[in-house]
Amino acid sequence: MTRLLLLAGTAEARALATALAARPEIETLASLAGATRAPAPYPVPTRRGGFGGAAGLAAFLRAARIDLLVDATHPFAARMQANAAEAAGAVGLPRLRLSRPPWAPGPGDRWRRVADAEAAAAALPPGASAFLATGPGSLAPFLARRDLRLALRVVDPTEPPPGRPDLVLVTGRPPFRVEDEIAALQAQAATHLVCKNAGGEAGAAKLLAARALALPVVMIERPAAPETAPRAESVAAALAWIEARLRRGTSG
Ligand code: NAP
Repeated sequence: MTRLLLLAGTAEARALATALAARPEIETLASLAGATRAPAPYPVPTRRGGFGGAAGLAAFLRAARIDLLVDATHPFAARMQANAAEAAGAVGLPRLRLSRPPWAPGPGDRWRRVADAEAAAAALPPGASAFLATGPGSLAPFLARRDLRLALRVVDPTEPPPGRPDLVLVTGRPPFRVEDEIAALQAQAATHLVCKNAGGEAGAAKLLAARALALPVVMIERPAAPETAPRAESVAAALAWIEARLRRGTSG
C-alpha cells in the first residue's frame, strides 16, 4: 500500500482525488486548509486545517508514514507550496507540484498585468467600478481606494467589512458559466474585472465574459513558486508521475 498526501483546494486536486479513489493500492489522504466553510466532499478521506508550518508538515508526513506528496494547491497558495517543498526535502519524500498553466490574453483582450493586489488597486482609474474575483484575502488595497465602487465574489455568504458597508458581496461557487459571468458583471455595472492568473477552465468564464463585454482586465500574475519539484500541468500528467513512482518504488 502506498500512502499519498494530496494538498488540495483546487479543481485539479479534486479530479486527481477522483482518479485515485479508484486505486485500492493507493491510500490517498486529501488535505484542505479549512478556508471554505462547507467544501464539496472529496471522494477520498480528507483532513482539514493547517499543519503548523513546514516543521509541522514534516512531522505529519513522518507520523502518517506518507510515501508520496502531491501539492495541488492553488497557484497563489505560495506559503503552502514553500512549506511543502521544505517539508518534503526534510523528510526525503518524492513531491510533485500539480499546477495548471496560467491564462494568456486572446485576441481583443485588454489586460493590464500587475505583480500583486497593491499594484492592481493602483492600476484602477479614479471612480472605476471593479468586479473583484481575487478572493477576500487580497481585499485591503482595494478597500483603501474610497473612490472605487467594489463588488467582491465570495464563496461563503458573509458581511461587508465595517469600514466599507458599500462593498457588494457576490456569492458564488465555481465553475461559472460565461453567460452567468456576463450577467454578474453587468449587474454590478463593472468597468473593470480584477482577477488572479489562476489558469484552468473552471475560472476562465469570467475572462470570456470580460472579452464579450470589451471590459479591461487587471490581471494579477502568479507569485514565485519553489522550482525544486517535478511539475505536472494536468491530472493525467500527475497520474503518470504517480504510476512511475509506483513502478520504481516510491523512495527518493
Ligand atoms: P497559503 O497562503 O499558501 O497557506 C496559508 C496556510 O494555510 C499554510 O501555511 C497552511 O497552514 C494552510 N494551508 C494552505 N493550504 C493547505 C492545505 N491544502 N492543507 C492544509 N493546510 C493548508 O494558502 P492560501 O492562499 O490561504 O490557500 C488556502 C487553500 O485555499 C489552499 O488549499 C488553496 O489550494 C486554496 N485556494 C487558494 C486560492 C488563492 O487564491 N490563494 C484560491 C482558491 C483556492 P500551516 O502553515 O499551518 O500548515
